[in-house]
Amino acid sequence: MRRIHALPPELVNQIAAGEVIERPASVVKELVENSIDAGARRVEVDIEDGGARLIRVRDDGGGIEPDDLPLAITSHATSKIASFDDLERVGTLGFRGEALPSIASVSRFALMSRTAGGDAAWRIEVDGGRPLLPKPAQHPVGTVVEVRDLFYNVPARRKFLRAERTEFGYIDELIKSIALARAEVEFRLANNGKPLRLLRPAHGEADIQRRIGDVLGGDFVERSLRVDHAGAGLRLHGWVGLPTASRSQADQQYFHVNGRLVRDRLVAHAVRQAYADVLFHGRHPAFVLFLELDPALVDVNVHPAKHEVRFRESRLVHDFLYRTLDEALSGTRAGSAVAAAP
Ligand code: ADP
Ligand code: MG
Repeated sequence: MRRIHALPPELVNQIAAGEVIERPASVVKELVENSIDAGARRVEVDIEDGGARLIRVRDDGGGIEPDDLPLAITSHATSKIASFDDLERVGTLGFRGEALPSIASVSRFALMSRTAGGDAAWRIEVDGGRPLLPKPAQHPVGTVVEVRDLFYNVPARRKFLRAERTEFGYIDELIKSIALARAEVEFRLANNGKPLRLLRPAHGEADIQRRIGDVLGGDFVERSLRVDHAGAGLRLHGWVGLPTASRSQADQQYFHVNGRLVRDRLVAHAVRQAYADVLFHGRHPAFVLFLELDPALVDVNVHPAKHEVRFRESRLVHDFLYRTLDEALSGTRAGSAVAAAP
């Protein structure tokens, strides 16, 4: 009989990385979410070779105290929750304290950060899971994370990376979905030094419509209905595409719960039902929707990658979504005139 032993931390982190870091876009998601949690107003993403060679995310957020740098890359270390109560009502995108150590365990990793009160920036590097001592560096207030040679030490994963264009496409899609939910933040995305996306920050309704158009194409807003409805402690707002804006693929469907993009069967079902009699078979609605509710009523700690949620009162949420969308779409049913959003 073999004896039981604790695994070395590098291996623990690599196992955790296996759950969350599937491809370059997963790294971008974790890093950009950290920037947003840090209050960034501007997030710059630089990619080389579809993310296989380099992923760099720079923000102007609050930064990390030099003494905390080693903790930032330690698993189960986080500044975002401290107790079970906090977990029950988490308001940040992150809370597991696992992303940075996971990413650092499967790449050549460097993080540089400076806080508003700090007189210098500090840099910490990790090579294949082994951290080196922090060193002083040059950087304005904020944080930059550089992830090079993703999966260089996990050949099985590296082999499954797709063509540069495909991986970059996933990254672009991810930035789009985050940019829809965080209109007040500026996003820049470049591949191999070429700027490909610049999303200027939006403030106020007209500006937000412009941001939605920048992300989804100029005519999306014109071909959709504005929804904003609150009741029973829930609020649903956003844009639902008119039947004429339906698509042959389900590629313009963004549903955010408390600012987090989720894929949820209950939500999908409510939406499908609301559109059932206004869309032809095989057509898919386009929509950008934001559901807001008390964080205590939704469990985001369902899956390590956090794209699933569980609603405490799932029936209530389903019916609220269905009724709100059904009502919004009622004008588009046969025989009635269609009014587009202004
Ligand atoms: P989590 O986001 O779940 O807390 P991470 O491993 O992603 O875990 O990050 C660990 C900690 O490092 C965060 O809790 C936060 O305090 C700090 N951190 C990470 N990225 C940034 C950033 N861009 N700006 C400021 N602090 C950051
Ligand atoms: Mg995080």
